[in-house]
Amino acid sequence: MAEPEWMQEVRALVGKEYGRVYAWDPVNAPMIRQWCELMGTEVPTDEAGKVLAPPAMLQVWCMEGPVPNNYPPGSTTENPYEALKLIEAQGFASVVAVNSELSFERYVREGEKLYYTTRLDSVGEQKTTGLGTGYFVTLIMSYFSIAAAGGQDEKVGELLFRVFKFRPANPVKPAAKADAAAAPKAIPRSAPGISDDTRFFWDGARAGKLLIQRCKGCGTLRHPPGPVCPHCHSFDWDTVEASGLGTVYSFVVMHYPEVPPFEYPNPVGLIELDEGTRLVAQIVGAKSGDIQIGQRVKVEFNAFNDGELVLPQFRPVAP
Ligand code: ZN
Repeated sequence: MAEPEWMQEVRALVGKEYGRVYAWDPVNAPMIRQWCELMGTEVPTDEAGKVLAPPAMLQVWCMEGPVPNNYPPGSTTENPYEALKLIEAQGFASVVAVNSELSFERYVREGEKLYYTTRLDSVGEQKTTGLGTGYFVTLIMSYFSIAAAGGQDEKVGELLFRVFKFRPANPVKPAAKADAAAAPKAIPRSAPGISDDTRFFWDGARAGKLLIQRCKGCGTLRHPPGPVCPHCHSFDWDTVEASGLGTVYSFVVMHYPEVPPFEYPNPVGLIELDEGTRLVAQIVGAKSGDIQIGQRVKVEFNAFNDGELVLPQFRPVAP
């Protein structure tokens, strides 16, 4: 297929290098420790017992802080995504990350200062996938360690990042004129995605039972459902019916934006069942200001979407 003319402008950018983005902080032990704690891994050390940065942490060092687009002085102000903007301007408004590959030259150590540069590596031919029609765009970020005066900066690793910039296959069509006059339909609740791994849970809810997946190998209960026991790696499982009693382990109260069909304020709890597993569910029958962590709750099953959807929800009960 002949390429549209506007693609020439995009193709001219392939191979372009975008300038440095510096790290706010040198590689340091506190950030390494926190990262390892969150990931559930050990802090790596060398033979002499000195702290090494986990390789998979590479991208973290040069990230902005909580304030968007706030990069350290000397960092480039160029937009490395200009090819995506040009494609977007042609109506390919959606984007999905496709793959991300990290590769490493060596370990990074405490005290090193890093920066990265970005190269637009490639823009594919126009492709049509299940999502829609568009272009695969690949960027490569190269990470360098700044050398001491007089030395040469050393490349320590690389991050390949590929996205698909596309026009959705089934865009929402504007409502026909006849429909516009009709009364608006009640907006249904979005239904859960149900797979062979999770079907038992939703079937259980429909039957008024709160089911928890149980490993047949070691008896460990788990939720959310999955094919493999994270404890003993057995694929064999059955279910147990929960008592339906639990406590509010944590919760949030959604206030804004008010998205139908939910009522606001909308409290959503992380419920710890007495059996030990936790699940996310709406809390009903309580004023949002009255919900407390540790509050005892009991499950109830409520039907939505003309009875098509049954959801477990939790209502506070006396301790
Ligand atoms: Zn097991």
